[in-house]
Amino acid sequence: MAKVAFLQRGIYENLGVMQLSSVLKQGGHAVLVLIESLEKDAAQALAAFGPDLVCFSVLTGSHRAVHETIDRLRPSLPDALFVIGGPHPTYFPETVESAAVDVACVGEGEGAVLDLANAVPDRERIRSIPNLIVRGEDGRFSRNAVRPLVPDLDRLPFPDREGYYRYPVLRQARRKTFLTTRGCPYNCSFCFNHQYRRLYRGKGKYVRARSADNIIREILEVKEKYGLGSVFIQDDTFILDKVRLRDFLEQYAEQVGLPFTCLVRADLTDEETAQLLKGAGCVGVQFGIESGDEGIRNQVLRKNLTDEQIVAAAALFKKQRIPFKTYNMLGLPGEDLAGAFRTVALNARIRADLPWASILVPYPRTDIAEEMKRTGRISADYDVDDISSTFFDTKPGDREERAILNLQRLFFWAVRFPVLTPLIKRLVRLPPNPIFDLLFYLGQLHVYRVSENVDWGAALRMGWNFVRLNMRRGGRA
Ligand code: SF4
Repeated sequence: MAKVAFLQRGIYENLGVMQLSSVLKQGGHAVLVLIESLEKDAAQALAAFGPDLVCFSVLTGSHRAVHETIDRLRPSLPDALFVIGGPHPTYFPETVESAAVDVACVGEGEGAVLDLANAVPDRERIRSIPNLIVRGEDGRFSRNAVRPLVPDLDRLPFPDREGYYRYPVLRQARRKTFLTTRGCPYNCSFCFNHQYRRLYRGKGKYVRARSADNIIREILEVKEKYGLGSVFIQDDTFILDKVRLRDFLEQYAEQVGLPFTCLVRADLTDEETAQLLKGAGCVGVQFGIESGDEGIRNQVLRKNLTDEQIVAAAALFKKQRIPFKTYNMLGLPGEDLAGAFRTVALNARIRADLPWASILVPYPRTDIAEEMKRTGRISADYDVDDISSTFFDTKPGDREERAILNLQRLFFWAVRFPVLTPLIKRLVRLPPNPIFDLLFYLGQLHVYRVSENVDWGAALRMGWNFVRLNMRRGGRA
């Protein structure tokens, strides 16, 4: 039996970690989930557990903080292997070789992490496990091919929530997260799905769905065990398959009946979809607009979505009284300040309840980053280490860029109170300042409070944790 620890700084539940934990426990291994910021002394708790493997799920941007954490912990755990998985090693496997890690897991981790735990401490066995990049005794890395995608999601055990829910703040959260599908068939240039599909070409069906029965059993089990006030379905696009949606929502309404929120696409939303969602208890949807400029949205971002479809979907959600959150990006290639205000205008036109805008983070290797390098928008040597750890950071450049950065700070207010637009058009010309930051965080707190269905107290606690974590070492691990 191996002892496997998962370590993170941010206070959130990670379904990927929960899924690995359940597979490991089913395989007879011991698992500890540690949230550093909720522990008095995480290093001591880790040492007391005595892990064989210390694992991190890593987003690009937070990778530097994880590497620092590994450097800090390694002296007290000389026999443990430090393992990273998640998006960062999946999309930037070559960066592993310059990092402090022993093993990196690429792609879906269930099979690989179980094989790894079974093989510990035999490094020779570990070196040939598919999906893993492994540092040898000589310091050289072996890189193995990925295994096929998990073909039948129903065969996986339910995510093990115990590790997270031993923390009251997560156990007591009314809203808990579930995943009913994996993969997205769209091809947006700023999103990693196209890269993930390339990685798995010829390795099985990319978009996979769990059966209604399987999902409902999991939800009911969580409700029974931990209590549940509402359900967040975290699928990239929950409404992809209308037949499945109808079947699932009918059973969900009958057997679960709890309010839920989900992610949709505007172009897949028709009258029946909105009615089905409402009828089953949907209390909020989220969808991407990305840009108010249809040309940028479709030619640069490849979102494949017209203004007309966005307006029609919004009207259907308004009709059904389903509040909606929109995702938008500013600072896009080809976008000037007037273009950024067109994004405000479209959100205001559809009366977005929870408008959200970030500054574009062009992740290296995405098609959009390559295009931006080609056109000189970012430098040819732009790489993972240029990426910041939050969606909001940016390096203000010229006056136009600074104005767009200011607009991102004021986006919520500009959309929700269009009457302020003339004033905001003047304000964004001022230098970035703490008042804009404060207004931004107030807007985000409101969005968080409503979309998470929590009171102001919980929202303020979350805000404080976010600030605290970012002040301490920059970024989350
Ligand atoms: S629809 Fe959403 S999840 Fe799918 S590729 Fe586009 S941005 Fe990514």
